[in-house]
Amino acid sequence: MEKIGIVKSEFEKPVNPEKMKEYESTLVIDEEYARGLEGLEVGQSLQVIFNFHLIDDYKLFGPKRIGEPRGVFASRSPKRPNGLGVTAVELLAKDGNQLRVKGLDAIDGTPILDIKSYSKLMDQVDTDTDHHQGHHQAQPRTEIEKLIEDNDLEKLLLKAGELHGHFCPFVSLGVKAAAYAMQELDVSSQGMEEIVAVVETNSCFSDGIQYVTGCTFGNNALIYRDYGKTAVTVATRDGTGIRLYLENYNVVDENYPEASQLFDKVIAQRNGSAEEEERLNKKWQQIAFELLEYPIEELFKIEEVEIDVPDYAPIKEDKFCSECGEKIMAGKEVTIEGEDYCVPCMESNYLQLDGRGLELIGHV
Ligand SMILES: [Zn+2]
Ligand SMILES: [Zn+2]
Repeated sequence: MEKIGIVKSEFEKPVNPEKMKEYESTLVIDEEYARGLEGLEVGQSLQVIFNFHLIDDYKLFGPKRIGEPRGVFASRSPKRPNGLGVTAVELLAKDGNQLRVKGLDAIDGTPILDIKSYSKLMDQVDTDTDHHQGHHQAQPRTEIEKLIEDNDLEKLLLKAGELHGHFCPFVSLGVKAAAYAMQELDVSSQGMEEIVAVVETNSCFSDGIQYVTGCTFGNNALIYRDYGKTAVTVATRDGTGIRLYLENYNVVDENYPEASQLFDKVIAQRNGSAEEEERLNKKWQQIAFELLEYPIEELFKIEEVEIDVPDYAPIKEDKFCSECGEKIMAGKEVTIEGEDYCVPCMESNYLQLDGRGLELIGHV
């Protein structure tokens, strides 16, 4: 192997790589290889492959700078059979055959052997099953089920936040209640109505429930009861369930009075400044994660219950509206003199789920 260039760095001797990575250095590429730099763009990430040229021995096993003694291939030790270093860097500037980079942990004079464009697809191991693997995975909730089993509430809340859009105390309480119920019932969910979640509120709480239980608005495993209580029952199809009701409804007001006042101003009265809104968001996030640490019994009244689980969602023949021609789920049609119509064409009354809960919308 021949070098293609050399590293210019202010480090003449190796210091700890975490520190070196904070500094900039310059890759000076030999003229004969300069053409190979074409297409590099400032801001992109690169893999720099270099030679630990001052080290000529290696150790297959031994103590390491960080962690337990282990094999060389389980470490980033420079004492390796082929003396190769591989480090990802950011390209800050490009000037002819010189590349200014940040993040290289190689000392001054290090021979560069290769430079490769860093690819998220190729160089980053995707352990996040929700992404690429999700498409090939028959059961997309595998990761969530694992988090529930491990009681990793923090990760569950992080993920629930993606659905909910923000972190707040009630989405956190929903995550906590749902994970607890799933663990107690020892059930998993593939979103095929194996379990149901009965929520008694359509607040932030319900999004924590939907994410963790997999019982959602769309898969018919979420049952909404318009009671206006922060409570949920998770049940198996035979009706065996656990209900959690937020008994300590003052938990936020009592422990975080400042956040409550902010909430009042920013959300209830819609009267907060941008700065206050930002402060509330930060505070909420902090509270959300702190609530995960509370013993569940200090928050919720927990009871074993038996509930009537409705039948599976019916699959029936669709109907068509004689007026607008749009397709209607069977049972939702309005029949007048043998003709089927849709609700809006007939201006019939209907139920609407919105911020107020279920509202009967009436035209007459
Ligand atoms: Zn919320
Ligand atoms: Zn119609």
